[in-house]
Amino acid sequence: MGIASVNPATGEVLETFTPLTSDEIESKLTLADATFREYRHIPIARRGEWLRKAADILERDQVELARNMTLEMGKPIKQAIGEVLKCALVCRFYADHAAEFLQDHEVATDASRSFVRYEPLGIILAVMPWNFPLWQVFRFAAPALMAGNVGILKHASNVPRSALAVERILLEAGFPAGVFQTLLIGAEKVLDLVNDPRVKAATLTGSEPAGMSLASAAGKQIKKVVLELGGSDPFIVLDSADIEAAAATAVMARTLNNGQTCIAAKRFIVADSVFDRFTELFVEKVKALKVGDPIEESNDIGPLATAKIVEEIAEQVRKTVEMGGKILAGGQRIEGAGNFYQPTILTDIPKGSPGEKEEFFGPVALLFRVKDIDEAIALANDSPFGLGSSAWTNDPAEIDRLVSEVEAGSVFINGMVKSDPRLPFGGSKRSGFGRELSAEGIREFVNIKTIWIK
Ligand code: NAP
Repeated sequence: MGIASVNPATGEVLETFTPLTSDEIESKLTLADATFREYRHIPIARRGEWLRKAADILERDQVELARNMTLEMGKPIKQAIGEVLKCALVCRFYADHAAEFLQDHEVATDASRSFVRYEPLGIILAVMPWNFPLWQVFRFAAPALMAGNVGILKHASNVPRSALAVERILLEAGFPAGVFQTLLIGAEKVLDLVNDPRVKAATLTGSEPAGMSLASAAGKQIKKVVLELGGSDPFIVLDSADIEAAAATAVMARTLNNGQTCIAAKRFIVADSVFDRFTELFVEKVKALKVGDPIEESNDIGPLATAKIVEEIAEQVRKTVEMGGKILAGGQRIEGAGNFYQPTILTDIPKGSPGEKEEFFGPVALLFRVKDIDEAIALANDSPFGLGSSAWTNDPAEIDRLVSEVEAGSVFINGMVKSDPRLPFGGSKRSGFGRELSAEGIREFVNIKTIWIK
């Protein structure tokens, strides 16, 4: 259904939006382009003041913003509040650190002076998914705007209210009109934007097909892209791990955001000697989760964001089970209104089934038994994806091996994968390339200019 806010817990259409016309898109691009010429010269300290104000607004409006996300895409309300506050955190982080990350950097050479300068590029296009409707956008916008770029946002079609909220917050914070604009458009308009010479680079967080389409078009135009795509993160549990802690974290790592997180643990790879104990605890905790309307604080799991997602996950489970997979918990769609699916654990995952190689974007855990660390690492790496990874062990030699041998954008030892403004975030293999957050993130969309003076 076009661009609309639909409550996935009830199916109620909350609001529909008319996509922008070609003329409206053109006037927004014209404004962005003109704004950039002025905005790039605004001192970084001033940009920082506006971003701090944006953080204040996020905190002030946290309840309303969180409620809106929960109504639009179904995340549990407490997690929605956490997301709004994390957006405030990333704004303050870049307000505090951007100047240091972007300051001229002297390098001794044969010149009398040589140094590196970081300059903004211009209009950056952000194509974003619905699963963290505010966080995904702020983690792009905070560094991009501090670096002196201007942003245009094509958000997912099912979270238009959140998309408009970001623009409103940044305007109220003091950023000039045109520094950040939300374009309510369908995916079919994205390539025109990539092809527009005024748009200098693009970032996309989403699925592989969307990433391939955008990156191909950008490649033809020789434009920089950052891609944050899917993942099927391993969660490895070895002999010496704290099994109780691992099982408790496993539940959160799989089911946060109703299981619709790119860095969710999706494949649980457990050593034979602790498999039964881990499985018993994991199954018990998953079965205890409360599924229901995410606006009620007492519920752990809400609906999947769209009817299509619940159908896709049901089909992946059905095929995996048909081919020999075993259900240890859940395994069914919950009948009635809304896109609810039972928190599920599958094991004995057959070769060639969806459970072996596909990303499961919902509350379904895939549980694998392995002999030892060698098998665990081999299985973890036997995936087209390489986003995050989590591993549980108290053996220093095993930690060394996991850190260096797991093919992923991050390795978390004895903890769940999470993003943190202070650390770079991104993937390897088919999970994408480029980094967000930290110093690395703010340097993705700048011209790294070398200056050499004789
Ligand atoms: P999606 O269908 O790719 O949508 C993401 C965004 O791309 C939306 O704004 C969408 O617009 C747009 N889009 C879709 N097809 C496009 C195309 N051919 N060309 C240009 N833009 C296009 O992704 P999703 O299925 O909603 O999101 C889930 C996926 O995102 C999962 O695979 C998840 O792992 C991944 N993800 C990755 C990260 C990360 O940081 N690595 C974070 C979150 C999610 P419309 O809504 O209008 O279709």
